[in-house]
Amino acid sequence: MLEIKNLHARIAESGTEIIRGLNLKVAAGEVAAIMGPNGSGKSTLSYVLAGRDGYEVTEGDILYNGESILDLEPSERAAKGIFLAFQYPVEIPGVATMQFLKVAINEQRKARGEEELKTPDFIRLVRERAAELKIEPEMLKRALNVGFSGGEKKRAEILQMKLLEPNLCVLDETDSGLDIDALKIVADGVNALRAPDRAIIVITHYQRLLEHIVPDTVHVLYQGQVIKSGDKSLASELEAHGYADIIEAAA
Ligand code: ADP
Ligand code: MG
Ligand code: MG
Repeated sequence: MLEIKNLHARIAESGTEIIRGLNLKVAAGEVAAIMGPNGSGKSTLSYVLAGRDGYEVTEGDILYNGESILDLEPSERAAKGIFLAFQYPVEIPGVATMQFLKVAINEQRKARGEEELKTPDFIRLVRERAAELKIEPEMLKRALNVGFSGGEKKRAEILQMKLLEPNLCVLDETDSGLDIDALKIVADGVNALRAPDRAIIVITHYQRLLEHIVPDTVHVLYQGQVIKSGDKSLASELEAHGYADIIEAAA
């Protein structure tokens, strides 16, 4: 589903290269974890996948279902079923979460050639999915992410994912700032999204989340490259021994 080939990407403003020849393949049905020390380029990779302004790809390619997405706008990538949950979710003042979700769902349906959801059906669907994530109805009336706690932001991201049913989900540090109960709710939400036609990439600094979302593959990112790949045992190995051994071996 996703194939990243020799990707090089830099910050447009400064020209600093952050992603330096990154290779990664993720198949449909797979849950892949990307781990790596702080500053290794994990969030930058998620921004480049999203097509966010301010980043330039200078070499390599990102193929999604065999086609390059590099020339696509962020909205076009989303319409193709790519969903990114960022480490720092964007605040949208003045737009109630409910309203935001309605627009997002209907954009998605339009892109898929489906009819708009009727308001009562939409409300029923959102309430159902929100309840699964223990999101209070009151939260849906507030502006998206504005003044949300860390846990509320992450739940709001998972709610969007549940509603949009993307094919490729990328979650950047979804575990940061979560207490153990919130972590379990988020992990259950992600696990419920596992499906044969969906790939999920979980980016995380710590192994803790991976005790709840057990990955099929684990990739270690360091200085903008994948320096080691393995199965879930690689995550436990990292937890026990840290990154130093792997970094040394790669060097
Ligand atoms: P991670 O998510 O793995 O912690 P990031 O992708 O956030 O790493 O950052 C990777 C590297 O890029 C870091 O060294 C960081 O300082 C640098 N970096 C990130 N954003 C910018 C920016 N806008 N300008 C310059 N350097 C940046
Ligand atoms: Mg970081
Ligand atoms: Mg990060």
